[in-house]
Amino acid sequence: MRVHIDQIRPEGLVVELGMDCDWAVQGVALALEGRVLDLGGSLRIRQVGKGATVHGHAEVVVDQRCDRCLAALRLRIEGEVDLYFDNGRLEGDANIGLQEDDLDVGFLENGELDLGAALGEFFLLEGPNRQICGDQGIERVEEGACDLPAKQAEGEPRVDPRLAALKNFRPD
Ligand SMILES: [Zn+2]
Repeated sequence: MRVHIDQIRPEGLVVELGMDCDWAVQGVALALEGRVLDLGGSLRIRQVGKGATVHGHAEVVVDQRCDRCLAALRLRIEGEVDLYFDNGRLEGDANIGLQEDDLDVGFLENGELDLGAALGEFFLLEGPNRQICGDQGIERVEEGACDLPAKQAEGEPRVDPRLAALKNFRPD
């Protein structure tokens, strides 16, 4: 969904997020590199000076893999959206009444905001740096313990395929 900020009315544009928003599901799946299982929230986009702000709440459940044991898991990310998009040009006289430190800043492309990409980026920043089975917001889908794959492999006897061919060889 691309929003041209000049076309936003003064009261702002409200976007309700759901699984029926293909643009949002695709943008988030691309950013998080996983299938989106659930998506919700509500965003309000406002034109501010030559930029735009996006405020609201957003939450997603996405298929991921554990960084330690590689098991399939479901990651839930939710948070308050507080983003500012600039037109990309530096303008010292721009008085937009915002405090830079409070906002994540992105950029508009030709006066347009790519809301799907922005949402994906938001979840990427809001989510955990490492996703490990059982951590907050993370539900393991598979049975079993969260062990390193290398540790599991230690107990398995390894047979060199060249020696395996000789296993049944008996000299008479
Ligand atoms: Zn794990």
